Amino acid sequence: MSQNPEPNRIIAIDGPAASGKSTLAQRLAKHLGYLYFDTGVMYRAATLAGLRAGIPPGDEKRITKLAFELSIDVRPPSKADGRPYDVIVNGEDVTWEIRSEAVDANVSRVSAYAGVRQAMTVIQREIGRRGKVVMVGRDIGTVVFPEADLKLYLDATVEARAERRYKERMARGEQVEYEEVLDSMRARDHIDSSRDLAPLQPAEDAVILDSTHLGVEETLERALGLVQA
Ligand code: C5P
Repeated sequence: MSQNPEPNRIIAIDGPAASGKSTLAQRLAKHLGYLYFDTGVMYRAATLAGLRAGIPPGDEKRITKLAFELSIDVRPPSKADGRPYDVIVNGEDVTWEIRSEAVDANVSRVSAYAGVRQAMTVIQREIGRRGKVVMVGRDIGTVVFPEADLKLYLDATVEARAERRYKERMARGEQVEYEEVLDSMRARDHIDSSRDLAPLQPAEDAVILDSTHLGVEETLERALGLVQA
């Protein structure tokens, strides 16, 4: 038996939408041979399921019940259409649908509900406890894994983030206006950072990286330097 087992390392990456945390986390996970897990997918899945079931996003009770019953699976990509993974909700591939404007517009409301957060946090902790994971979200370093080995908080100006999201959508052939993307992102930032439960904020011991003027490679190098330290 090994005398020196590798510790169950957890790397938490938090930050606002389109701050570059998913790209960083994917690269980091690949480099380290860790699992990449994007917790935003879970809140998006609950929001989409609610919209599809015709439940008003303000109906906390029904949305919460639905969140507890939801089957969410994240699997290796089955198509080469730019997806980093497949998102399967109740057996159906909803990888792109969870990125729609309707989900963007409602996800912050749904994810502010205590029961929804509870349902998702339990699953996230189960996955994280297996170790060797880079977990991405808004509250990973503060609430889900305050004991994470390394906590990064990725930030960028709202204009830079909106521009990234706008370009991603245009590249997917969607018809969007930059101003709309910017407004929606500002609204989401506001709800995510001002909610009572697990608000978006850096953990006290998080290392803050600003990706406004940092390239993907540079951000990765800094993160790898921190992992090795
Ligand atoms: O990261 P992404 O933009 O996909 O997350 C979508 C939304 O899910 C966020 O705006 C936030 O409201 C919610 N979220 C959360 N806690 C997390 C991850 C995402 O509340 N850990």
